[in-house]
Amino acid sequence: MNDYPAEAQAVASIIEARWVVPVVPLGTVLEQHSVIVDAAGRIQDILPTIDARLRYRATQVVVLDEHVLIPGLINLHTHAAMTLLRGFADDQPLMRWLNEFIWPAEKRFVSEKFVRDGSLLGCAEMLAGGTTCFSDMYFYPQAVAEAALQSGMRANVGLVVMEFATSYARDAEDYLQKGLQLRDAWRDQPLLSASLAPHAPYTVEDKTFENVVTYAEQLGLNIHTHLHETRTELEESLKRYGVRPLQRLESLGVLGPNFVAAHGVHLEASEMQVLAEHGCHIAHCPASNLKLASGIAPVTALRQAGVNVAIGTDGAASNNRQDMFAEMRLAALLAKGASGDAASVSAAEALAMATINAARALGHDANIGSLEIGKVADMVAVKLSATEIQPCFNPISQLVYSAGREHVTQVWVAGKLQYQQLEGQVGIFANIEPAELKEISTIWQAQLSQSLA
Ligand SMILES: [Zn+2]
Repeated sequence: MNDYPAEAQAVASIIEARWVVPVVPLGTVLEQHSVIVDAAGRIQDILPTIDARLRYRATQVVVLDEHVLIPGLINLHTHAAMTLLRGFADDQPLMRWLNEFIWPAEKRFVSEKFVRDGSLLGCAEMLAGGTTCFSDMYFYPQAVAEAALQSGMRANVGLVVMEFATSYARDAEDYLQKGLQLRDAWRDQPLLSASLAPHAPYTVEDKTFENVVTYAEQLGLNIHTHLHETRTELEESLKRYGVRPLQRLESLGVLGPNFVAAHGVHLEASEMQVLAEHGCHIAHCPASNLKLASGIAPVTALRQAGVNVAIGTDGAASNNRQDMFAEMRLAALLAKGASGDAASVSAAEALAMATINAARALGHDANIGSLEIGKVADMVAVKLSATEIQPCFNPISQLVYSAGREHVTQVWVAGKLQYQQLEGQVGIFANIEPAELKEISTIWQAQLSQSLA
């Protein structure tokens, strides 16, 4: 059946799929197609399998006869290391959750090892769930990068900047300089990129934002921050600065096509216009916003205003899953329920928000976010044969509304198989040992439990 002719062109690998959903063009479903991957890990061709078998040959041929192949999911906003704080403090509003639980625990426990261990746990969870790239923001970004490199994931590592001292940095300037040094050290790592990540308007002063803008312009970096997450944030900004945070950032020159705002829950129509005019992006984190009772982001109106909206999980402390399938489904359902329009955020649009829209926000859309010839082969196979997701009329509907991360069977990053779950077996990572993950959670659970006692 898979006898490829000897005269056919040799390539690195061939993935034959029942369906390929390339995401671009939106809503396209290709039946019985193959994705051809070259030795550099790029997509060389996408064509009907019947033609692929005449034209190409490879030592590695993967047959996915009950699967849909999609681009790797991109988590546009998370704090991977906070996976160690999953379930540590639940059922609290944001400011109390931060002030009384998360910040004290971070002050006591966060170290380079905490961040490296927590990020590896987060990477394993994300990778097994079909996420191939994440945009992070946390202390010790070098440890985040180290975990991402070990797992084989692609990462945009946020170089976090705040005013207050932590074990990681003394003050805003120290955060900035440490971050920039790291960014220089990663320049040759194809899977790593960096953003400047001023934590939020309530933790970063004007002068620091101005410095961030200068460095972002000089170095061509994105700016990633939390913005308009809660009503308290808006009230405090009005009291302290006389304006809402978005207006403050606009006057400081922070907004632009390189600006990614996490949340954007509370936005007026005029503010959505401002975001659209500057070409900004929103990392919509629906589960986190619900769990912290922050509200529901006006995704339908944002999209109508022309703002690029993508999806993030936020950290596991406020979600508590690093699960882009759950987030896609929630984003689609919430947009409909909140707007009263069942057509808002279709299944295809939700999938685009978790892939190409996030790639655009990161400025990586020439490389990732869709399955197109010339792009990097970051791909996920999802098996659609399980009873709970049958029958299947449209695999895109299945992906968003009924399937979950448990249906992911293979995950490739730049053409390399980084995770695989064979029928009836536990999932296997190419570069992470299950014993290491177990040890990390055991050790940190014991340590963190002390502060709850
Ligand atoms: Zn966050």
